[in-house]
Amino acid sequence: MSAARDALPALCGLTHAELTWRQHEDGEPAPHSTAFDDVYFSRHDGRAESEHVFIAANDLPRRFRDWRASRPFVIAETGFGTGLNMLCAWACFDAHAPPQARLHLVSTEKFPLRRDDLARALSAWPDLAPRAAPLIAQWPEAVAGVHRLWLDHRVTLDLHFGDASQRLALLDGQVDAWFLDGFAPAKNPEMWQAALFEAMAARSRPGATLATFTCAGIVKRGLAAAGFHWRKVPGFGRKREMLAGEIATPPEDGRRRHTPWFVPPAAAPARHVAVIGAGIAGASTAAALARRGVTVTLIDREGPGSGGSGNAQGALYVKLAADTNDQSRVYLAGLLCSRRWLAMLDPQGELWQPCGVLQLATSDKEQRRQTRFLAHHPLPESVVRGVSPTTASRLAGTPIDHPGLDYPQAGWVRPAALCARLAAQPGIRIRRGEVVALQRNAAAWSLTLADGERLGADQVVIATAARANRFAHSATLPLQPVRGQISQLPLPPGAPSLGRVICAGGYVSPPLHGVLTFGATFAPREGDSELRDADHAANLAELEATLPALVAALREAGAKLDPEQLQGRAAVRAASPDKSPYAGPLPDAAAWQADYACLAKDASRVPALPGRHHTGLWVSAAHGSRGLASAPLCAELLASRICDEPLPLEQPLVDHLHPGRRLIRDLIQGKPPARGVGNSA
Ligand code: SAM
Repeated sequence: MSAARDALPALCGLTHAELTWRQHEDGEPAPHSTAFDDVYFSRHDGRAESEHVFIAANDLPRRFRDWRASRPFVIAETGFGTGLNMLCAWACFDAHAPPQARLHLVSTEKFPLRRDDLARALSAWPDLAPRAAPLIAQWPEAVAGVHRLWLDHRVTLDLHFGDASQRLALLDGQVDAWFLDGFAPAKNPEMWQAALFEAMAARSRPGATLATFTCAGIVKRGLAAAGFHWRKVPGFGRKREMLAGEIATPPEDGRRRHTPWFVPPAAAPARHVAVIGAGIAGASTAAALARRGVTVTLIDREGPGSGGSGNAQGALYVKLAADTNDQSRVYLAGLLCSRRWLAMLDPQGELWQPCGVLQLATSDKEQRRQTRFLAHHPLPESVVRGVSPTTASRLAGTPIDHPGLDYPQAGWVRPAALCARLAAQPGIRIRRGEVVALQRNAAAWSLTLADGERLGADQVVIATAARANRFAHSATLPLQPVRGQISQLPLPPGAPSLGRVICAGGYVSPPLHGVLTFGATFAPREGDSELRDADHAANLAELEATLPALVAALREAGAKLDPEQLQGRAAVRAASPDKSPYAGPLPDAAAWQADYACLAKDASRVPALPGRHHTGLWVSAAHGSRGLASAPLCAELLASRICDEPLPLEQPLVDHLHPGRRLIRDLIQGKPPARGVGNSA
């Protein structure tokens, strides 16, 4: 196991920054850290200091003006604090960069401000207010991990909450300019350690620059030891000197030395990408690419929002393991990401409602599991908390006999409408049709459709759920179809409502447009989508077992709780054997078999051969019934990788989602690789 993986924390909350507001000579109180006894910035000249120390010393105005790359310019910072430095960098970018340029900001923070404190601190700079607004609106929960914020159409901010050295060691991305901020080394010696400078060096692009306000010996020595060249330059105001520097040749990223198969393919041109499948996985990937200026052809047999994403209403929920594992880490990150993403995409809440989800413990076993989960995961109550039957009843607005977990960030979504909205984003062309074959020519892909038409694309994303392994290139992707049927009950006037989505064996959502949706059945290895009365009966039985009082009240109000009179929809979803999604590059299975067959004999002798992948071929699939929580994050992951940007997940979690993970596992265990259900290519 790598050192980076060891640094992945259990799911946990972080301590908020404790501030005092100190009066200054200009009359405005400025934030001061109680724990570190140091200032975040000077209220008097904080802007000018930020411009001098971080912006000018990294030569950003000139570099922004000259930026012509299709990838974004990447700035990373060690202590986000109030975000003043990052907002100044964004303002500088807008002032100097050409219109097609993009900016990617990465910042670490161990003690995030409370949202109110953030807003108060940034109110000192009225001209930054339009930039502060999206930051404050999307300000994440104080949970360790990566939180992606979309500041505007060309500026992205990844907040890596946690200790700077640990978070940078986990970062999957490369940096052009460093803002080495943080409280002064004398006040915060834990941060200014060799591990920090080493992590910075290893995540630097060749020629990456750095700037910092301090000239402390520990910083000069640490930077030099890590490979940075530094020089003293005039400091700001009363500070005589500060440091600026650069790294010519960063050290190699050795983190995947023991798992070379996960080394990502080199960045390749992505002017035009074909996305196959317009469900939530494909439509969100198409939208993520289009936002980056990529031309997208989105191809689907039935149009956007069909198959498993075609329901009128679906639950945005997660189920987290009692003991932390990578799957739970991905799903919690995914839930928080979806929540922010939906709020950005649809602030009016036409497509979703963050009403919260109650996960009821209807058995002693589940109750013990939930108790164990809460004991192991000190997360903020605004993310997940245990609730008694009384509290559950109050939140749901119906009598509930069981305790449970309450997820206030979760809720419900209209998946079909969401897919249609995503597919309508500028830069996306919809093509209705079935792709029957994929072929790689010299430098591009050729897609053959069932009607005989051929389409060309630089890169291809396969997002066709259970059919994702029907192409020759993806045939070794293990996927299982899972049939699921939901039931829909039109409500009579006066029928009771629900305040939360409620999950137990199945789920039921608050009514939408006078219809109560509940279900879904779960039938692995079944691939048909006919409606069945028996499935309606099973959904009804599950609803009655979980919420007998609600069902009694529905009957009393005259609702027709008869399986033969229910409406509904059945669809086929896809699951992987380990129940985590696939999101990443498609391995060249034959090459992996040739390169890594020796692992079957001795798994400790890992060949130093980076994984070979089908150039420009990607997959997002196996989202099961939790795609609303996983697909948008996976879409960002794919779009970021394709466009050569920092990724929105820690590196071990990126590897956890790799579509080749089962292939390498089988190779190590000496098993023959899985084959897809069919191969229409
Ligand atoms: N760059 C900030 C701004 O523009 O407002 C000011 C940074 S403030 C002087 C220092 C920040 O570093 C604080 O927010 C503090 O919580 C954070 N910090 C301190 N130690 C840290 C660590 N080990 N890892 C990550 N952040 C840390």
